[in-house]
Amino acid sequence: MTGEIRMSKIKVKNPIVEMNGDEMTRIIWDLIKTKTIEPYLDLELKEYDLGLEKRDATGDQITIDAANAIREYGVGVKCATITPNEGRVKEYNLTKQWKSPNGTIRNILNGTIFRKPICMTNIKPWVRCWKKPITIGRHAFGDLYRCVEHKITRPGETKLCFTPDEDKEITVTKEMFKFEGNGVIMGIHNTDKSIRDFAQASMSYALSQKQDLWFSVKDTISKVYHCRFRDIFQEEFELRKDDFEKAGIKYVYTLIDDAVARVIRGEGGFIWALRNYDGDVMSDMVASGFGSLGLMTSVLVSPHGCFEYEAAHGTVTRHFYKHRDGEETSTNSIASMFAWTGALRKRGEMDETPEVVKFADTYEKVVIDLVESGVVTKDLTQLIDPPIAEYETTQSFIDKVAAKLEEALKG
Ligand code: NAP
Ligand code: MG
Repeated sequence: MTGEIRMSKIKVKNPIVEMNGDEMTRIIWDLIKTKTIEPYLDLELKEYDLGLEKRDATGDQITIDAANAIREYGVGVKCATITPNEGRVKEYNLTKQWKSPNGTIRNILNGTIFRKPICMTNIKPWVRCWKKPITIGRHAFGDLYRCVEHKITRPGETKLCFTPDEDKEITVTKEMFKFEGNGVIMGIHNTDKSIRDFAQASMSYALSQKQDLWFSVKDTISKVYHCRFRDIFQEEFELRKDDFEKAGIKYVYTLIDDAVARVIRGEGGFIWALRNYDGDVMSDMVASGFGSLGLMTSVLVSPHGCFEYEAAHGTVTRHFYKHRDGEETSTNSIASMFAWTGALRKRGEMDETPEVVKFADTYEKVVIDLVESGVVTKDLTQLIDPPIAEYETTQSFIDKVAAKLEEALKG
């Protein structure tokens, strides 16, 4: 320090649950925290290290504890984590192939994930007419991801049946298809409760963002399954019609084909709630349509009003191996920074501490201004219009953000 008087730290009233993670994002996480968060905020963090070693050592209890802490304190911020596959079990000498931490947290919070790109004026989306972010809300329960399927290898009949618990005698049976040869069948399911939670989370999020909410399924073809989704959304909307009116936003239901066509030629600026599979596909389409994974944010919103913020990308393993081998890296830290600012803004709104909200706004503006002035990591060099050759390293980009943030906060 240069002897000048340090500005006093901004007090954050209630704690934030902080979850550390793995690989390159762990390196970035520590830099962001020590250089841009701790110097300016008087903040109590409830820390959970979700790094793979710690998950293994605790039998993954630490992930469950972290999720319960988010339920208790209402706001969490998470670094990307490894979901171990067989290769990782060997690499880290794990006692078990632990489940995806995000899946575990989502099951406990029962939330919906909203993914939103960060837009900058000099980064042109591949889709030319997109001017404002498109946020995808993906239902994260059932459907294709819990399907039961079967391969048919000889002629025969297939049926869908339901037997009520209290009366095993009554079974509802629907003919599916009479096979004359080989083929495949699949059964999927969802629950009214989960669909309703999804609808409520989507509406709460739209109201909090003050943006229109779109929902789309194929109800013209699936007159029971897809219609159930549409009807539950409509019921939930009726209950909050006044809130939507007050916020000056609309709820739009439209057939999925129509929605896709309108999204591609629209300018963005709305939230698009989608069923599990549609959301999986469309979130990758929207992410690449906007540019880089390093600019995609993600928030898990639970029906009881808890929020967990993270970057949408993973632990950037390829860059981490380079870093470990002593090579210079240029990993984009912006989505991780916005995970912090998202959590801080929400904390500030919940605590009614405008100075904390202002800190988050200032931080985001500093990052956007920096990128718009041409200071970027390697992934953005080709997305900038016109493309540029020079780029920052992982560390130098964060240093520049820290320096600009210090300047902005003094001013
Ligand atoms: P990834 O970490 O998202 O990285 C895939 C590729 O995308 C990178 O190799 C890099 O491309 C580019 N990329 C992603 N984020 C970037 C950033 N911030 N800056 C610059 N480039 C970026 O996906 P993955 O390699 O498939 O997965 C790695 C690990 O992350 C896995 O163990 C997986 O389980 C985990 N994962 C965790 C989460 C989560 O915690 N939310 C989500 C997804 C994956 P180039 O190599 O071409 O530069
Ligand atoms: Mg996907």
